[in-house]
Amino acid sequence: PRVYLNGEFTPLSQAKISVLDRGFIFGDGIYEVVPVYGRKPFRMAQHLARLERSLAAIRIPNPHTVQQWQDLVGKLIETSDAQDQIVYLQLTRGVAKRDHAFPAQVVPTVFGMSSPFARPSAQARRDGVKTVSMPDERWLHCEIKSTSLLGNVLARQFAADRDVPEVVMFRDGYLSEGSSSNVWVVKEGRLLAPVKDNLILEGIRYGFIEDMAAARGIALEMRPISRAEVDAADELMLSSATKEILPVVSLDGKPVGDGRPGPVYARLREGYDEAIARL
Ligand code: PMP
Repeated sequence: PRVYLNGEFTPLSQAKISVLDRGFIFGDGIYEVVPVYGRKPFRMAQHLARLERSLAAIRIPNPHTVQQWQDLVGKLIETSDAQDQIVYLQLTRGVAKRDHAFPAQVVPTVFGMSSPFARPSAQARRDGVKTVSMPDERWLHCEIKSTSLLGNVLARQFAADRDVPEVVMFRDGYLSEGSSSNVWVVKEGRLLAPVKDNLILEGIRYGFIEDMAAARGIALEMRPISRAEVDAADELMLSSATKEILPVVSLDGKPVGDGRPGPVYARLREGYDEAIARL
């Protein structure tokens, strides 16, 4: 497959960066993951707005206009025959002599690739997924979509070691998120979500689920959610670009609600599928 690196499309095997790239040396970069359905990007404007926010947060100048980013994503989609794709974009501060402080003159490294998107299986959608809990041990700027993902990597491996696809993390006794997904709680027909602050990444699906809840008359409360509330939930859900929305049917081996995907999940799932079909 062909990938984009610093202005050129090259075969993946020939795309090379310097070992002094600050992405490699420090994890000094940010990224985006844009799902593509039927060759059309989903919620592209929101992804590009978050890219802009991530860049601003770590003071990397945005080297492209929105139009240029859209054109790049369009060209990345053309590198693949797949109908459904995952477009990955990454920027690092660039290549410079190793020193923690920002280099004076540096050009950001821009990388992009598209991969076929294996959507969640019919089984995962129908039967839900199992999760385990763990303390959130990450830093205090989880709102930045940074490539510095060691905390998330270790969290995801904690799940993998227990043969489940995702963790549910708690910081100081309150729900934060998964290793690579937002977490949703349903109690008595109301949807609860952790506050969009520095302790979670605001998923593009977070905003989409907010919109769907408003359109479908599902009450949504964004507030701190205690461990006790999660344990007493009627439903739990995960959302991310690659997971879309998935029902969580167990946490630490205990069933969530009646142990089956619930009605609020079903309504949001329907909304998700409708939005994709309308693209
Ligand atoms: N939280 C974290 C830590 C994530 O890595 C992701 C996925 N990138 C999300 C939430 C969900 O974000 P999105 O809906 O944009 O995929």
